[in-house]
Amino acid sequence: MIQLRGIGKIYKSGRSDYRALKDVTVTFRDSEFAAILGPSGSGKTTLLNVIGGLDHYNEGELIIDGISTRKYSDRDWDSYRNHSVGFVFQSYNLISHQTILSNVELALTIGGISKKERTRRAKEALEKVGLGDQIHKLPNQLSGGQMQRVAIARALINDPSVVLADEPTGALDSKTSLQVMDLLKEVAKDRLVIMVTHNPDLADEYASRIITLRDGEIQTDSDPVSENDCPGIEAVHKNMGRASMGFGTSLALSFKNLWTKRKRTILTAFAGSIGIIGIALIVALSVGVTDYINQMEANMLFQYPIRAESLSIDLTSMLGGGREENVEDGAVRIRRIVRQLFMTMTSNDLKSLKKYTDSHADEILPNVETIEYVYSVSPYIYWTDGERYRQMYPDITLNRAGMTLTTLGNMFMNSMPTMSAFHDIPNDEVLYKDSYDVVAGRWPENAHEAIVVLTSGGGVTDYSLYMM
Ligand code: ADP
Ligand code: MG
Repeated sequence: MIQLRGIGKIYKSGRSDYRALKDVTVTFRDSEFAAILGPSGSGKTTLLNVIGGLDHYNEGELIIDGISTRKYSDRDWDSYRNHSVGFVFQSYNLISHQTILSNVELALTIGGISKKERTRRAKEALEKVGLGDQIHKLPNQLSGGQMQRVAIARALINDPSVVLADEPTGALDSKTSLQVMDLLKEVAKDRLVIMVTHNPDLADEYASRIITLRDGEIQTDSDPVSENDCPGIEAVHKNMGRASMGFGTSLALSFKNLWTKRKRTILTAFAGSIGIIGIALIVALSVGVTDYINQMEANMLFQYPIRAESLSIDLTSMLGGGREENVEDGAVRIRRIVRQLFMTMTSNDLKSLKKYTDSHADEILPNVETIEYVYSVSPYIYWTDGERYRQMYPDITLNRAGMTLTTLGNMFMNSMPTMSAFHDIPNDEVLYKDSYDVVAGRWPENAHEAIVVLTSGGGVTDYSLYMM
């Protein structure tokens, strides 16, 4: 049960304070579908955020299951948000470059559950909202109503006791709105759903209780809980347990967000600068690599959000296309993109960096999960029919044909780590052993052994096959 007692929320803006909530006193039942109505700016979102622990109140008291939240630590709030509350927003807030399955799975990751179990539960949640057959689609391949259903599946994955929805149908047409409302009504059968809306008709039709807000104050409440039904308030607060996001998960997330975009930027910059041949080459590469990245993303635990690389090039400086020389009228200008490229190239002294981290390990290691050193791996792979041998990797076909890419081209290739399908295995097992299932064989034990990493669907990319 959630009880608000005289809750006030003050936003400090410049000189004057703004009171977004004033003396809000209301009790929610453990299972009901409450709609909060009110004009824009009346404090609906603020109220929802306070109830969900996304925002803190300044006055009054929020009591959750009979326990005051006044003494909640940040950790208690984290735990409450992660285990007890599911959020649904008007704008879905799905991660666009991840499948809806991983979008839903992601919410579960926060509880520190094994990969297999995560997938199973995410699938189950998606089936519940009627999307069991679409789990491998990306959000932009779905309609608005379907995306909102994904968001609801995501909100439900931790089986929260409270679902908070802020104008969940605000961006939907009336027909799909009804489907989403049906779903929320179903969800409210065995938990508390609080939904903000500015559509009174929807509220009337679906909600079991309507609360109206105006200027931060409750104006009406169609079905208030009587004081007699409220349990007493305990002063002590129980320890709520810890919400944890595995290091691997945060790594994978940062990686996904940073790396995909970076690659695209690099490829675009490259294509823009090198001309027609470059464009043809890059379109081919980009299509392959993007697919590859999409499929590998979920498994890229051994890439780092913070990386120091030996060579750094400021490719964005080339997006402008290089400066053109001022010349006399009638003469041809030269755009010096190559010169500019080399001018922005810097190398980092990684040897010294490693020396530093090694010698200061006592101070650094307690503050980080791990430090890994990644060397570019170029295994030699041979094919044989028993008599003849042929080097398959690194591919020597181009050398034989006397056809080498330009030095510049090579430099680009070498500076893009994921152009290679081969990666170091991190020293720290935590980075991968929890996140993968061994489907055949065993974890490598010797230096000459390797793992083939499959996609989440159990596939392998043509790109990896080609590289091997
Ligand atoms: P609603 O969701 O009902 O439209 P909100 O809860 O978003 O309203 O906002 C209520 C009032 O609080 C508005 O006047 C808004 O400008 C103000 N407000 C909301 N968030 C902030 C903030 N972070 N800082 C200052 N004022 C805010
Ligand atoms: Mg709002």
